[in-house]
Amino acid sequence: MTDTTVTNWAGNITYTAKELHRPHSVAALKALVADSARVRVLGSGHSFNGIAEPGPEGVLLSLAALPAEVDVDTAARTVRVGGGVRYAELARLVHARGLALPNMASLPHISVAGSVATGTHGSGVANGSLASVVREVELVTADGSTVTVARGDERFGGAVTSLGALGVVTALTLDLEPAYEVEQHVFTELDQAALDAGTFETVMAAAYSVSLFTDWRAPGFRQVWLKRRTDQPLSAFPWAAPATEKMHPVPGMPAVNCTEQFGVPGPWHERLPHFRAEFVPSSGAELQSEYLMPREHGLAALHALDAIRETVAPVLQTCEVRTVAADQQWLSPAYGRDTVAVHFTWVEDTDAVLPVVRRVEEALDAFEARPHWGKVFTTPAAVLAGRYPRLAGFRALVEELDPRGTFTNAFVREVLGG
Ligand SMILES: Cc1cc2nc3c(=O)[nH]c(=O)nc-3n(C[C@H](O)[C@H](O)[C@H](O)COP(=O)(O)OP(=O)(O)OC[C@H]3O[C@@H](n4cnc5c(N)ncnc54)[C@H](O)[C@@H]3O)c2cc1C
Repeated sequence: MTDTTVTNWAGNITYTAKELHRPHSVAALKALVADSARVRVLGSGHSFNGIAEPGPEGVLLSLAALPAEVDVDTAARTVRVGGGVRYAELARLVHARGLALPNMASLPHISVAGSVATGTHGSGVANGSLASVVREVELVTADGSTVTVARGDERFGGAVTSLGALGVVTALTLDLEPAYEVEQHVFTELDQAALDAGTFETVMAAAYSVSLFTDWRAPGFRQVWLKRRTDQPLSAFPWAAPATEKMHPVPGMPAVNCTEQFGVPGPWHERLPHFRAEFVPSSGAELQSEYLMPREHGLAALHALDAIRETVAPVLQTCEVRTVAADQQWLSPAYGRDTVAVHFTWVEDTDAVLPVVRRVEEALDAFEARPHWGKVFTTPAAVLAGRYPRLAGFRALVEELDPRGTFTNAFVREVLGG
């Protein structure tokens, strides 16, 4: 099947591909790749920039029509998941076998392969990015052959958070753990002035997963979401008051699509995302950016944002602060650093948002901020190069696995510097 007018979820990117293909088998996919000079894979299209764009001469490849493989090995506590599968489907099937993932992103409708390719994460001081549980990746490379890279292979550090630049990920094997329950407690109005560096760390570690939300219209945080595992102790939260109604992270939005709150326990996959799997937003009236910094700079970074909140607030829907444990993927924004991640959901107006994005990047520059690969950013390649100590190793891996540049695009060339 071919089609040329495809947009991302937010609608701010229209892919200019020569063709869109949706192969029905891995064999057909391999033949197609071997026959194409330029290929990029489209996951669920939830990125906000040109990362998946193949360019006008390229092929955009969707894996949505491949068999949705989810093969759970209960004894080994692993799952092999196909390259087109989304977290909502994966989580449901894994849970049905009494097993769980340690963490999820805010939205369960994103594809697994596309998420780990960009370093997507949830929250929690002890929770790594979603790529951290990947133990093996299966890639179809430019000549149509299959390459498997597993943990322990010296190339593994570049193989998972790969920006789609190595080949088509047809399967991933993930580590699982026994299923667990989570309850979600929401608090309102956390005063930023009450936070010193020590309290900030304590607040961010007050539950298994913690998110602070603000609209920056006033100092401090409008909401705090605590996701507590019921097999872990319940900490007191004296810094803010419990919410009296169900909340949505964007002030004024109806909370009906949000996961259960008020401490009602439930399965991990129905609490870790902020949004319910049954509600499928087919498109979004928003743009997003996010910056990941060493966690010890968290409070100072929030003060730097507070200083420019009058610039930020007019184009902001909500800002979320989370933590991510250090991981070992060379291109992960949490590579080698316990991280604080500051996310911005902007209004859907690129011209109004871009100057503010630049202002945010200036404010966070002193904290060695690494932008989320799947969101809007303007950080120059030379600055990025200084923030990724293993970039040269990744470049060498691209040269080894994709010497003809079949899987490159303008985004990847820019990031890799040339
Ligand atoms: C509403 C919303 C909420 C979000 N919440 C979070 C969040 O909580 N945390 C967070 O960190 N991010 C979040 N994001 C960002 C999102 O997780 C990332 O943009 C992620 O990459 C999206 O996955 P996707 O499958 O849509 O990827 P796409 O945007 O389709 O693709 C991303 C990259 O992955 C590559 N790719 C995809 N599939 C394959 C494959 N099979 N083989 C090779 N390459 C592949 C693409 O080529 C591209 O380079 C959110 C985005 C939205 C829209």
